[in-house]
Amino acid sequence: MKNETFVNGLLDFIARSPTPFHAVENIISLLEQAGFHRLHEKEAWDHTHLPNDGRCFVTRNDSSIIAFSLKHPLVEHGIQMVGAHTDSPCLKLKPNPEVIDHHYLQLGVEVYGGALLHPWFDRDLSLAGRVSYLNEKKQIAHCLVDWKKAIATLPSLAIHLDREANNQHSINKQQHLPPLLMPLPDTADDNPVDFKAMLLMLVNQQLLAKGAPKALQVLDHELSFYDVQPPALVGLHDDFIASARLDNLLSCYTGLMALLEHQGEQNALLICNDHEEVGSISTSGAQGNFLSSLLTRLCGSDGGLARAMVSSFMISADNAHAVHPNFSDKHEPNHGPIIHAGPVIKINSNQRYATNSETGAMFRLWCEQAGVPVQSFVVRTDMGCGSTIGPITSNLLGVRTVDVGVPTFAMHSIRELAGSKDAFYLYNALQCYFNHSDEQGGI
Ligand code: ZN
Repeated sequence: MKNETFVNGLLDFIARSPTPFHAVENIISLLEQAGFHRLHEKEAWDHTHLPNDGRCFVTRNDSSIIAFSLKHPLVEHGIQMVGAHTDSPCLKLKPNPEVIDHHYLQLGVEVYGGALLHPWFDRDLSLAGRVSYLNEKKQIAHCLVDWKKAIATLPSLAIHLDREANNQHSINKQQHLPPLLMPLPDTADDNPVDFKAMLLMLVNQQLLAKGAPKALQVLDHELSFYDVQPPALVGLHDDFIASARLDNLLSCYTGLMALLEHQGEQNALLICNDHEEVGSISTSGAQGNFLSSLLTRLCGSDGGLARAMVSSFMISADNAHAVHPNFSDKHEPNHGPIIHAGPVIKINSNQRYATNSETGAMFRLWCEQAGVPVQSFVVRTDMGCGSTIGPITSNLLGVRTVDVGVPTFAMHSIRELAGSKDAFYLYNALQCYFNHSDEQGGI
């Protein structure tokens, strides 16, 4: 695969994945096109009989997914894993979202994760997610919805009314963030606005398009706003990818492509967890038992999992902070990741990242074998350090782990920026990791 093909696929994947639910749906469709078989956790299957030559996937909560390709017994051979996350900071709709203020219909939101909030103003916003409804058989059913068009906006306050806006501007999350949907019509007093009624209409339009039975009543929803501006290549020579959700759909897609291209003799696995941005504690988050319960089933009893993990490895792939030339004092002078200089190994001696000298060395070797440049990141000693699913997974499973990621600007903005070569570099390194022989890789 060429860089250009890879990047176009990445942009398309992110554009079609406004929420973790949509990301998982799109990952499933790419897996099924490649012949992977869906397993359900409630069904009886284990390491002794796996369908489809061991090329399978499992989902949880429609927002986390594990795909794997098992070529050999896992206990004796271990498994090479890649971990990423499907969620990104955003504005999530409250359960009773209608806000009527000064004759405008607005929707109340919660801030999901550590969102950079200023960039959410003056964007063309749409709304998407999962809706749970009562169907015609009076059963609970779920579907994904996406308005696809810009239905809301969050205008800034004019500079004339806030002369200090360019020097200091604090955002009150309760008061300043509800996006505007429309000015209310004069007849609104007679017809109170009911968001669930609007949602029911959209659900039924989308069910009708699929030929699915009608919804009678919306019971609940998990919806979030997103920017309708599609991902794009920007820069004089298309050097940058500008997009929402690069953290961390970029790594989900890159890990998926490496798994789909996996031809080698190694056991390989990709996990894309939800809820990383809010601490990972959920059934579908990295602190839940999704991965450990799957691996236990694949390893059998009698300490199989513990044995398997000794010869296994995890690459936790999540974006890294590139040095911003206008704010370079925020970086450690000897460890400033540069765009187009390859994946970044993230190191923190206080174990906010899971990398150690052994796992870092192994990743450097795979990059070298793939002909890919590699760089390293430590945070400034006088600043706090972020974290990833790397230390959590490493801790829960006892598996050697390295934290890596593609250098990125504006992380957690509604429009982040990465290099158009670095995701492809990471893809090449992951391919080498999945396909190397024991002699080459030192696992
Ligand atoms: Zn992330």
